[in-house]
Amino acid sequence: MTNRVVLIGHPVAHSFSAAMQQAAFDALEIDARYDLWDRRQIDLADAIAQLRGDDFLGANVTIPHKEHVVAMMDRLTDDAAATGAVNVIQRDGKKLIGHNTDVTGFKAALDKVVGRQKMPRHAVVLGAGGAGRAVVSALITEGFQRIVIFNRHLHRAEGIVRHFNKSAAHMELRAMPWHESVLEAELSKTKVLVNATSIGMAPGETPIPAELLPPDLFVVDLIYNPAITQLMKDATAARCTVLGGELMLLQQGARAFELWTGKPAPVEVMQAELDRTREQGLRQIPVDMGPAGEVPAGEVPAGEVPAGEAPAGEVPAGEAASAGGISADGAAAAPTA
Ligand code: NAP
Repeated sequence: MTNRVVLIGHPVAHSFSAAMQQAAFDALEIDARYDLWDRRQIDLADAIAQLRGDDFLGANVTIPHKEHVVAMMDRLTDDAAATGAVNVIQRDGKKLIGHNTDVTGFKAALDKVVGRQKMPRHAVVLGAGGAGRAVVSALITEGFQRIVIFNRHLHRAEGIVRHFNKSAAHMELRAMPWHESVLEAELSKTKVLVNATSIGMAPGETPIPAELLPPDLFVVDLIYNPAITQLMKDATAARCTVLGGELMLLQQGARAFELWTGKPAPVEVMQAELDRTREQGLRQIPVDMGPAGEVPAGEVPAGEVPAGEAPAGEVPAGEAASAGGISADGAAAAPTA
């Protein structure tokens, strides 16, 4: 019996996870197939129920379902319970265990971008979805003393503040309205800026205007596709130290692989597949659209990353051209999201 893992989200076609995980299964000769399931919220419970079947090792969960699936799990790990979001589901007999490997993945990215410098204590987080929750959870456990969350819909950021009420009791965790003047004031006081919104997946779009970026920030953009977002270009120009989302993608994926298979993840193979995907484009994997059927008008069907898209990159301040040999200006047009 071929084992199965699926990515459940809406949309899913842009994801690199299928290529990365399938390469890892194949390298270790594990008889498993990774499929893409595009599911709306109305179909989510049915999709989760299917994961209890004997052929499933588990699943990844992505935009916009990471918070919705929490209540559908039989058990949550500490990271998932702390964040209130699940990005990896592991089947254990008939039971489903919800994990959050984004937390570990983000910590790896934060460590990388800060490097040998002292870990800052003040961060601004843009976004209050599942990824925003994982970022806030990681920053709290890293010992940050002030975290300010901005989100288009303020109530979601306020929900995160309420959620972390106890674990953040010793520090200042605030939700603020997304106004440029407020953002600018907070950015002038912070050392770390994290983009945990999905703004930046389309060409040229950016969550904050370039002129609001002060120099010398550590900037982590969770978006990994495109490799270099407009925010990363602007932050590099402002002499910030910048990292995109690929390291987090790799680290959260490696941990997920280990949970599903019980084997150490072949990280080099997974990285090589991410590099290949950027160079040659996503392999066409059919997207299972579920009961909703056809892709509705105005939405994008299974997409392809254009060949030649720039590799992921750490772009140290002022050194964009040396980061993986790519100029921040050389990023290819963003693929569909
Ligand atoms: P999500 O739960 O759907 O949340 C999306 C976030 O983006 C929300 O804060 C939302 O604000 C905001 N947003 C979306 N469109 C917007 C717009 N037009 N204007 C203003 N705000 C907008 O998604 P998620 O799971 O948190 O993922 C967020 C991003 O992180 C995605 O790009 C995802 O690919 C990336 N990510 C990367 C990794 C990695 O391993 N590198 C891991 C996880 C996530 P509202 O609440 O106001 O709608």
